[in-house]
Amino acid sequence: MCYAIPGKIIEIKGDIAVVDYFGEHRNALNKFLNAKIGEYVYAQGGILIDKLPESEALEILTIWKERFFELKKKDKEYSQLDNSVLNNSVILQHHPPSLSQHNSQPHSQSDSQYHSQPILEILQKVNLNKELTKNELLALLRSKNKDELNLIYTTANNIRQKEHDNACCVHGIIEFSNYCRNNCFYCGIRKEAHLNHIERYRMSSEEIISAAKHAVKELGFKALVFQSGEDEWFSEEKLVSLVKDLSRLNILIFISIGLRTKETYKKLYDAGAKAVLLRFETSNKKLFENLRPSTRFDERIQMIKELKQMGYIVATGFLIGLPDETDDDIINNLLLTKELKADMYSFGPFIPAENTPLENKRSVDKDTVLKAIAISRFVDRDSNILVTTALETLDKDARTQALLAGANSLMINVTPNEFKKKYAIYKRNYGAQKDIKKEIIETINMLYSLGRAPMDINFYLHK
Ligand code: SAH
Ligand code: SF4
Repeated sequence: MCYAIPGKIIEIKGDIAVVDYFGEHRNALNKFLNAKIGEYVYAQGGILIDKLPESEALEILTIWKERFFELKKKDKEYSQLDNSVLNNSVILQHHPPSLSQHNSQPHSQSDSQYHSQPILEILQKVNLNKELTKNELLALLRSKNKDELNLIYTTANNIRQKEHDNACCVHGIIEFSNYCRNNCFYCGIRKEAHLNHIERYRMSSEEIISAAKHAVKELGFKALVFQSGEDEWFSEEKLVSLVKDLSRLNILIFISIGLRTKETYKKLYDAGAKAVLLRFETSNKKLFENLRPSTRFDERIQMIKELKQMGYIVATGFLIGLPDETDDDIINNLLLTKELKADMYSFGPFIPAENTPLENKRSVDKDTVLKAIAISRFVDRDSNILVTTALETLDKDARTQALLAGANSLMINVTPNEFKKKYAIYKRNYGAQKDIKKEIIETINMLYSLGRAPMDINFYLHK
């Protein structure tokens, strides 16, 4: 099984290689692989990560050729928006067959005629590529009318198609330790969780490498996220050595380990980690400091900026639906993600975790998350927007709906089952114990049903 399509280098411009995929050209950073014109390569996140022999590449490309163009056609059809119709207040949308099954709120013919003028006007502004005011962003976020929501999502999906075509990144995540020195109120593996007898685990380096090898060689992943609590047992030395070992797999290594010193992150970059996932959690400083005792908002933001400067591909974002959060906060969160020049937007719903101070709070509703995805697409048109695993927990069809509301990237949990169930950051009721191969096949089939292809997306170079 393969998630990235090999391409052929047709030109080298300094550190940049131009890669051909069936006649389409994409730029990728050649700094770490040193590939030559004529060679076949895999790229992830706009970085060349591996070479492969011509015979192997041609074999894979022969299998892909027909499907590649079929998928593109399908995606284009499903994401089409007829502008003249939009201007006349009626939306013409081509639903993919799967959406009618997946959509929990089907739209009847009769209510599809009505759209309140302001939302329509705002979307027309979006279509004309005009910047929206904060009030307009708030109006989109507050919209509740089913038909308006449908229009918002379709408009975002249409922009996604124009910006990224049908490319969709599929990354794996391995959760390697649930020890944490912090006490974030929302998190099920917070330090004080031990008072509630949470079972802690730490995968050994051998276990992490073996899980990663399995994900790469058996499951076909080309990009993996390695996540943990802020676990100081993994010293700088241990992490550097782990990353060095993992870099032999020729994949894009994402790390998601919370705050570390600038020096440690620099050493990890040099050891082979080229991407980082570090959310700022909320742009509301007071809320941040209330919910994350003894951590500082300014320090986290500064770290994200420094990681970007170091050359990391930065995935960042926030939680939606934290107690006392306002609509204004959500819009500020989106704008801060843009301001930080996130290479990838990673935000998901807050889901109450057992035995935490917030365990009795409510989860946010799915449409708020879908609207946030669509609005991100409007404020940062060529952004890469990830569908997080937490969203899937809210509703098993949410992933599909998110991809149809502007998202273009997915994550699949490939942590070995014995550890996965102990990584209880939030209450998971879906997917935790599923057979991983079955889940991957379901995901790939779902992507194909939407016309999406797992091709490299240039999030390293788009800013
Ligand atoms: N310790 C690291 C990485 C692990 S936590 C860090 O904090 O950055 C990864 C993410 O899980 C956090 O960024 C947070 O946004 C998310 N998370 C924590 N508790 C959650 C909850 N109850 N619901 C949804 N997401 C949660
Ligand atoms: Fe630790 Fe991250 Fe959970 Fe906070 S969110 S308690 S830093 S694992």
